[in-house]
Amino acid sequence: MVTFRNVWKSFGAIKVLRGIDLTIERGQVVCVIGASGSGKSTMLRCVNGLEEATDGVIEVDGELIGVRLRGGRRHELSPREAAAQRGHIGMVFQQFNLFPNRTALENVMEGPVVVAGLPRDQARRRAEELLTRVGLADRAGMYPRQLSGGQQQRVAIARALAMEPKLMLFDEPTSALDPELVGEVLGVMKELAEAGMTMLVVTHEMAFAREVADRVAFVDAGRIVEYATPAEVFGNPTHPRTREFLARVQ
Ligand code: ATP
Ligand code: MG
Repeated sequence: MVTFRNVWKSFGAIKVLRGIDLTIERGQVVCVIGASGSGKSTMLRCVNGLEEATDGVIEVDGELIGVRLRGGRRHELSPREAAAQRGHIGMVFQQFNLFPNRTALENVMEGPVVVAGLPRDQARRRAEELLTRVGLADRAGMYPRQLSGGQQQRVAIARALAMEPKLMLFDEPTSALDPELVGEVLGVMKELAEAGMTMLVVTHEMAFAREVADRVAFVDAGRIVEYATPAEVFGNPTHPRTREFLARVQ
């Protein structure tokens, strides 16, 4: 479902990604762990076109991200094509990024109505279903400021799901939450994983990675230096950098 092939990304002289290779099968959950500044967010941002890889390619469901190869040459997608491509990839950030002056329901309806052109009544029904799925049926009419951080993040997940993504990207979705609110968001993510969603999750929640991930990727200085099942990575890490990191965070 997702393939990184020798992906490099530089910002000026700084090489942030240094040859990422990764394959995620449909329905798999891959958790990405690693130190601050190692390139985890950049990896995710390259998948949904928020950043463009300097070299290498990323494919999602058989489509190259951001480029089209024609006659062996790379052509950029038009803004409209790029937006259509991004529509199939849901992303949830550390900061919830909801529209403050729209209700939970309106936040979830926004994408389907504005981007996908779905009739409002259909979008509303879909939004209601999704809010029910994330346990917020009774909060549909509330504004973000009236919701807790955990509730806002669940609205953000519902909003991403409203576009019927093939792939969900999560970038430390619980890092901005008070500890007692983390569980409710991880619970929704776990259900999503169990329902078969393909997920790429940057997280510091090692217990979540251990329980939910099919594979864990440890990123160090822009490279995946360890990639294995959670049992292998947490139980028997092979790379010294992984051992150092795990000793610090566990
Ligand atoms: P954290 O755990 O703190 O979120 P991360 O692993 O997600 O870290 P990235 O955000 O991917 O790390 O950043 C990796 C490196 O790339 C950092 O040194 C950062 O300063 C640099 N970087 C990221 N985005 C940009 C940008 N737009 N311009 C310049 N440098 C950038
Ligand atoms: Mg980050």
